[in-house]
Amino acid sequence: MWPGWEVTAVDQTADHATVRIGDRATGGTRTLQAAYIVGADGAGSFLRPYVTDDVEDLHGTQRLLIVDIHPFAHPAELPATNGFIVCEADKPVTYCPIFPPKLRFEFMLGDGDDAEEYERPTTVYRLLSRWLAPGDYRMQRTDVYEWHARLAGRWRNGRLFIAGDAAHEMPPMLGQGMCSGLRDAANLAWKLARVVTGRSGPDRTRGAWADLDVAVVTLPSPHLAAWLRDHEADAAIIRPDRYTYALTRGSAALDAATLALHERLAGAEVSA
Ligand SMILES: Cc1cc2nc3c(=O)[nH]c(=O)nc-3n(C[C@H](O)[C@H](O)[C@H](O)COP(=O)(O)OP(=O)(O)OC[C@H]3O[C@@H](n4cnc5c(N)ncnc54)[C@H](O)[C@@H]3O)c2cc1C
Repeated sequence: MWPGWEVTAVDQTADHATVRIGDRATGGTRTLQAAYIVGADGAGSFLRPYVTDDVEDLHGTQRLLIVDIHPFAHPAELPATNGFIVCEADKPVTYCPIFPPKLRFEFMLGDGDDAEEYERPTTVYRLLSRWLAPGDYRMQRTDVYEWHARLAGRWRNGRLFIAGDAAHEMPPMLGQGMCSGLRDAANLAWKLARVVTGRSGPDRTRGAWADLDVAVVTLPSPHLAAWLRDHEADAAIIRPDRYTYALTRGSAALDAATLALHERLAGAEVSA
């Protein structure tokens, strides 16, 4: 861990990768060497351009005003444990009792709405007035976020990888941004472990990378959970239209499935 240090350059050769880091406080620099580098460095990823310039915009851009409050008593008109969405035309609002007693409100902004204006306490008092009076709560934060739905065309270039928001961004409506980043980490970790310990060779590895690229595209669902149960599987390789393979960790079937998938995806529109 290098808290307070920033990645400023990345390079790779046939047998290793290097990352240059700088200390923001002192300006000191270091160069670290590794077998692989994974850029889990967020939506504005520094590493992504080293992997790909191809980033598809899936047109999910929207702005939301996020308001977190701490009410002095839970308002009678608002459910204590369940959220809701009010789909009104002017300002659709999502309510989440996020960490009781803290409550979160998310107001969708229109194209002409001024972010600074909406972050002001006086505006928030007005927006919340249907449920709470200004003296009923402490305002903890008001921030306008811009969400995007974007997908990087490649997640690997040689020894460099991207994961999480660096590879895919999605609006937070289904709570899958961080969840899919965690899935990337789990998915990538065992594959890298196999490679660096010599248990997977280059060909087999390519199959595994192909699996990585498609496995996180689709959201999990009750149908997937049932499908996994029926197949006694720990994971599935997911295509947009169907679940393709049941995968059980530690089994030869998993390796065979990733290789087969690699073959199958060669030339398909979702392949790496
Ligand atoms: C208001 C809000 C609500 C959300 N709600 C949900 C939800 O309910 N469920 C959900 O699953 N997701 C949710 N998300 C999305 C979730 O926060 C993101 O998907 C997740 O944080 C992405 O994780 P990440 O590690 O890929 O990137 P980040 O969390 O962005 O982390 C990237 C890290 O890399 C560091 N970094 C960047 N560049 C460099 C560099 N050059 N050198 C060194 N370090 C660098 C950054 O400082 C940062 O610490 C929400 C997001 C917001 C803003």
